[in-house]
Formats: sequence, structure tokens, C-alpha cells
Amino acid sequence: MSQEQVFWNRFIELAHTTFKQSIYDFYVADARLLELEGNQVTIFLNRPFKKDFWVKNFEELLRAAGFEIYGELLTIQYQVSENNYQSSSSQSQVNTVAEKENNTVNQQNYLQPVRSDIKSQYTFTNFVQGDNNQFAKAAALAVSDNLGELYNPLFIFGGPGLGKTHLLNAIGNKVLADNPQARIKYVSSETFINEFLEHLRLNDMETFKKTYRNLDLLLIDDIQSLRNKASTQEEFFHTFNALHEKNKQIVLTSDRNPDYLDNLEERLVTRFKWGLTSEITPPDFETRIAILRNKCENYPYEFTDDTLSYLAGQFDSNVRDLEGALKDINLLATMRQLSEITVDVAAEAIRSRKQTNPQNQVIPIERIQSEVGNFYGVSLKELKGAKRVQHIVHARQVAMYLARELTDNSLPKIGKEFGNRDHTTVMHAYNKIKTMLAEDDNLEIELTTIKNKIR
Ligand code: ADP
Ligand code: MG
Repeated sequence: MSQEQVFWNRFIELAHTTFKQSIYDFYVADARLLELEGNQVTIFLNRPFKKDFWVKNFEELLRAAGFEIYGELLTIQYQVSENNYQSSSSQSQVNTVAEKENNTVNQQNYLQPVRSDIKSQYTFTNFVQGDNNQFAKAAALAVSDNLGELYNPLFIFGGPGLGKTHLLNAIGNKVLADNPQARIKYVSSETFINEFLEHLRLNDMETFKKTYRNLDLLLIDDIQSLRNKASTQEEFFHTFNALHEKNKQIVLTSDRNPDYLDNLEERLVTRFKWGLTSEITPPDFETRIAILRNKCENYPYEFTDDTLSYLAGQFDSNVRDLEGALKDINLLATMRQLSEITVDVAAEAIRSRKQTNPQNQVIPIERIQSEVGNFYGVSLKELKGAKRVQHIVHARQVAMYLARELTDNSLPKIGKEFGNRDHTTVMHAYNKIKTMLAEDDNLEIELTTIKNKIR
């Protein structure tokens, strides 16, 4: 590395530690060292208005770096061009010092922008607060305003359809609104796993690492999906450490308390508890009404108060169901061109939804098998097969247990659906899981989660 390169790197380092990330990204990331002749340094800037800011704020650092490396006081000049800097391979008019050296553009000061993948429809404004989520919302807001400084990580957990994904994205949207340059990524753990495996396959782990380890804010959803995924856990461990060491914010969600995240490495679980852990519980009646009021503002009908009370009484554990009910009503109201939604209309609209609810529904064994398989990361073939590996056996027994609990099928019929097993095998699995359930809270959460997916 040449002296010029050493000088520039030192400046970058100083700028990075002295200024906020957003300032750095906006003013420094695109700048280039064009030339260093004698004690005269020339900097390339891609926007004329940036120059004033440089003169006021960065020259001191440039001189400091210059003095450190050369023992001389540098004079500084700028070359400004409206065009974005282009590398010499694409016919640029300017060649930077770094390029002259083997065409290696200074990697340290240039990071590709990241695709945030944030869902813009989920904001704090349309997140209805209730006793059930007040604490989680306050923590999420606080984190958005103080990235990396207050609670790191923030760990939000709770049952399905209670607003975890919504809150996670709300954080991202707020941070992005406050600072459009922030490097943010929202990712489900499933996607994280897939991306990781894909990069492994393509032998391109560098890109993966560069993306995830240079974020200001990582929002990672449904972390329980990393259970049983040893190599992805390892990678996530390093990602977590890299971000945490730089005081970059991490927010995680999970369907359960970290203490119940078995099959996840202890060192990860320990880290999840470093910051703040916050639970979202199901909304109470008043909150369900408030959520309904908020959501029905989007529809061109009047909902009577009775209707809202009626609906809030029908679905009591999951906000997603409430939303689904409004969609059903919307469909009916549109078809009939109604302007007011009465209790009768609402009842008619949601009838089929209620029928698909647990008590009345016929659940195919196949559906149970596929949800159990997804949950434990076991294929259908393995579930029906003869392998005696522990986690496969466990998944198989859980699937048999649920097949007996949730359907009217006879034991021999269930056995048949599991690779022609004997009915005594099914009986044994059922009893075993039942005994385990009495002692293991964690297993109970697992089963509740799977059942919620099946229904
Ligand atoms: P989870 O990730 O916990 O399973 P989601 O965040 O996907 O749940 O929420 C399910 C649906 O319910 C989403 O459409 C979300 O906008 C909505 N929702 C959940 N909680 C609230 C709330 N407090 N206020 C407004 N909408 C909510
Ligand atoms: Mg979610």
C-alpha cells in the first residue's frame, strides 16, 4: 500500500470515528483522493455544495492525517463534478490514487447501498397501543431514536399475529425517515438462512458478510427459525458480534421468551438477553375495539359500535384474525353495495371464517405433517421414513400426537399415514408426548405455535 493510500485510509478512519454515520455516508463515502503531490492534496467531490461542508469540517482531519503520515502540513484543494464518480474501467475523467494502484478502489470507504426490505405499510402511527403492547412499543420507539445506545439488542417476543413484524418494520421506517442514509436491513430468519446457504453455495461469503456486518440497524424476524440450524447460527453469532461491537443496533423477534429457545446455541441466547426483552401479549377487549376502529377507517362504510363490539368478541387472541374479519366484511359489503355494516352483516360475512376455526374444521393429516415438518426442519419423507435420528423421531412423534388430538382419524389410519406404522407405535408416540407436555413448558409453546399454523 502506498503512502497516499495509508494517508487516505487514516483520514477515513478519523472521519468515521468523528462524525455520525449519516454524515459520513453522505459526505465522505463518495469522496475520493485524486492526487497527493508535494504537500498538496486534491479531493474529488461529486456535488458542488459538499465543498463548503468539507472546508468547515474535514480539513482539520485531513491535516491531522497528513501530519501523522508525512510530518507535513498539507494544503487542500477540491475537484468537483456533478457526475457520480465512475471507475476508470468505465471511462472516467478522473483517476484516483487507489485506482492508479492496481485499480483497487478503496474498499474501506465504499460500501454498496443495502436494500432495506422494510415494509412501508407498518408504522408506529398505525400501530394501536394497548396494555398488551405498550412496553414493547415504547422500547421500539426508544431504540429508533437512540440506535445502538439504549437497549442492544432489543428482543420482542409473543404469539402469532400480535404485531411483532409490524413493530420491527415500524422501527425501520422511523429510522429511515429520520435518516435516509442509514444502513438498515429487515430480514426474516428464514430468508437469512436461505441467503446464507445460497452464498455458501456460490462461494461468495464475502458479499454476505459485507452486507450484514456493515449495517447500522439489523431487524431480524422470527429468530426461533434458527433452531437446529447450526451453521447459520454460527454465522449469525459472528454477525451479531460484529454489529454489537460497533454499537450497531440489533432488534430481534421470536415466538417465545429467549429462555425457551432450545436447540439454539447457549452463547446466542445469552447475547439475546444482553439488552432488553419485551413481551407482547394478546390484546384485551378495549384494545381490540381500538384496533378495529383504526383499521375500519380504511373502508368506505360505517361500522356501528355494536358491530365493533361483536367482532371484538369473536376473535380474541390474534390481531391478524381481526383484520381477516374486516376483509371478509369488505367483500360482502362491496358485493351488496352496503353503506353500513350491522352486526347481522358482520356475522354473515365471518361465518365461514368461524367455521374454519379449530372446533369445526376437518384437518387433513398431511397438513399436520407439513406444518410439523416446517417447524422442525424435517422433510415429509423423513417424517414418514424409518430414520431414528433424535430430532426426526421427535418431530414424527409430535406429528402423530397432533394427528390424534386434532383429527378424528383412528390409530391404524394415522399409523398408515406415517409410512405404514403399527397403531401401537402411534399410541406410544401419543403417550410419550403427552407425558413430556406435562413437564416441559417449552414443548407446550412449540405445540401451540404449530397448532396456530395448522388452523
Ligand atoms: P406477528 O409478527 O406478531 O405474527 P404481525 O406483525 O404480522 O404479527 O401482525 C399481524 C397483523 O396485525 C398485521 O397486519 C399488523 O399490522 C396487525 N397488527 C398487529 N398488532 C397491531 C396493533 N397493535 N395495531 C395495529 N395493527 C396491528
Ligand atoms: Mg411476524
